[in-house]
Amino acid sequence: MQVAIASGKGGTGKTTVATNLAWVAAADNRTVAYLDCDVEEPNGHLFLKPTFLHEQPITKPIPVVDLGRCAHCGLCAQTCRYGAIACVGQQTLVFPELCHSCGGCVLVCPEQAIREVPKPIGRLRVGTAGRVKFVDGVLHVGEAMSPPAIRAVKASSPDADLTILDCPPGTSCPVIESVRGCDLLILVTEPTPFGLHDLKLAVEMARVLGLKFGVVINRANAGDHAVWDYCRRQRIRILAEIADDRVVAVAYSRGEMAADSVPHVAERMRGLLETIQAGAHV
Ligand code: SF4
Ligand code: SF4
Repeated sequence: MQVAIASGKGGTGKTTVATNLAWVAAADNRTVAYLDCDVEEPNGHLFLKPTFLHEQPITKPIPVVDLGRCAHCGLCAQTCRYGAIACVGQQTLVFPELCHSCGGCVLVCPEQAIREVPKPIGRLRVGTAGRVKFVDGVLHVGEAMSPPAIRAVKASSPDADLTILDCPPGTSCPVIESVRGCDLLILVTEPTPFGLHDLKLAVEMARVLGLKFGVVINRANAGDHAVWDYCRRQRIRILAEIADDRVVAVAYSRGEMAADSVPHVAERMRGLLETIQAGAHV
């Protein structure tokens, strides 16, 4: 079962939920894989502290133009929706940082003047954290296109009964790439006006993608009731509520697993696990 943990905005406790859920599930003798898809800022390793067994570069294909064959017809530039290739006089220029590696220009070139070469964009790391199988991707600084790195992380998913995908925050392309194909999407939010605003966006995304989803409310005792009202009106299942607790914040700041030091977090994670496995979600 693939469970994606996402949130409309950063700072809601998404990684806390994802890492602790994986930790508690593994402690319960389940085979668990944790995939950190937040490749621009992966931080699951700070808490799970994996031993890395294998690293390899992540690449994406980038077009290269053979000017000796190029007839300067401009078809490639007309085809590219991202402005990543331009015909200027006798030059056909490629801008790798804008390229989405769609391969369109290669297909349309009538002179077969374009070939693709791999461009390193990050590193894939595979390891183990206790009983949790761990994979993350680290995008190179300044690299703008994270979806190819996210695809590489997902393609390296080890065999497991439960795979937890720790997604990037927001609702844009990297999140879509991360949640695509999951069996359940858990949206982590907090009971604040910002939390509610971004939860609504995330719910819209989940509905457009046709995903099963539910909500976890973090810092549940430290806000107003608007998030509960919204979920009730929208018939969205609240899968778990986690109380705000200074001890959790201290564990987080030390890079410790909250489930190890805060009994109510471990209890909530076990409850969430049971809810997930019972299929009791929207
Ligand atoms: S489509 Fe091919 S031939 Fe035409 S400008 Fe682009 S690279 Fe040159
Ligand atoms: S591969 Fe796609 S995005 Fe990249 S330059 Fe060609 S058409 Fe544009």
